[in-house]
Amino acid sequence: MQINKKVSPFLLTPGPLTTSLATKKAMLNDVGSWDNDFKLITKEIREKLIQILLETSTQNPSLTSDPYIAVPMQGSGTFSVEAMLGCFVPKNGKALVLSNGAYGMRCFESLKYFNRSAEILNFGDFLPPDPTVLQEKLKQDLFITHVIVIHCETSSGILNPLADLAKVVEKENRSLLIDSMSAFGAIPIDAGRIKFDALVSSANKCIEGVPGFGFVLAKKSVLVKSKNQSHSLSLDLYNQWVYMEKTGQWRFTPPTHTVLAFLEALVQHRTEGGVQGRLSRYSKNKLTLIRGMKKLGFETLLSERWLSPIIVSFLFPDDPKFEFAKFYNLMKDQGFIIYPGKLTIADTFRIGCIGQVNEQIMKKVVLAVENSLKKMKVQSAKPADDFLKEKEKLEKYELINE
Ligand SMILES: *Cc1c(COP(=O)(O)O)cnc(C)c1O
Repeated sequence: MQINKKVSPFLLTPGPLTTSLATKKAMLNDVGSWDNDFKLITKEIREKLIQILLETSTQNPSLTSDPYIAVPMQGSGTFSVEAMLGCFVPKNGKALVLSNGAYGMRCFESLKYFNRSAEILNFGDFLPPDPTVLQEKLKQDLFITHVIVIHCETSSGILNPLADLAKVVEKENRSLLIDSMSAFGAIPIDAGRIKFDALVSSANKCIEGVPGFGFVLAKKSVLVKSKNQSHSLSLDLYNQWVYMEKTGQWRFTPPTHTVLAFLEALVQHRTEGGVQGRLSRYSKNKLTLIRGMKKLGFETLLSERWLSPIIVSFLFPDDPKFEFAKFYNLMKDQGFIIYPGKLTIADTFRIGCIGQVNEQIMKKVVLAVENSLKKMKVQSAKPADDFLKEKEKLEKYELINE
């Protein structure tokens, strides 16, 4: 298989995503994992990750008395999610997963896989978890010790109401663990106001590095308590932390090139204006994309208020001439890799707004979509009426509940 090297396409996917040339170039070095230079780089990325969290946090004495600590972990993002869940949901604890998509389901599956007591509250595919339902559940089941929230559920692109859910968890005196994989670095998290034990993200999402590791930002007191809790030798976050503090090294072979790229990506994140800078570019990407797609007749799966600047799901056009496989290839021929949907209720495809892309590129994306529809002889991108009606009904129901 020969990868087309003439044009590197834009990855409009929520990771891996399009990275800058400088980030790619940073990988043209071989470094020893035991070497002092690499130890210093590891230290630096851990410090910079905490700076990103504090940059959007109001001051709170608890942030100094019991600080957040960054612990990187080898593997894709899911490895870090499992490291966090396995270490912080104790063997005698019980987790409640708030799910509205594939990544919530995955957390639940992971917990079951390593024999943690777990329950799922399922909110479907396109509505946010309801804080009132959460509150009732926590009042009723006193065995629940931990609540798991997905910050941006990347399977639909929904931005979940993290602050509202966190308020309930705090009020009911439970611990909160956050999968902020596709949000951290671009969606502000106020750690001075939102109380949580840990959050997890990875190198190849909003920081715009390349794949190879994830990281957990955890309260020091929570890390200290997590000794001997992990279900896994390699994913034992506690041991990774203790070893890293003692030796400066990763416990097993680190993805050295990925780490070099990540440091460069962190520098660019700062130069762009940190979380706010990134949020502003991604938001413009999203607006340009949605405006253009709506002109062509497309509809988003989510209603306006839940759309994230991370990734947007569009409903398939109702026109029978629309074929996703063909559409995908036509887009690829024009230099854009898009993403199929992951939903059960409706056929969708997704276009990411994150990575090294800007408004100009988003305009070209819309042009490429228009071209592709023409080539397929699709008359209108309007989705089927029945789904839209069904969705409207459900959303009305949700509003009554608010
Ligand atoms: C990307 C992502 C993950 C991790 O996926 P990997 O394929 O293992 O990197 C987990 N949760 C969310 C919300 C994500 O967007």
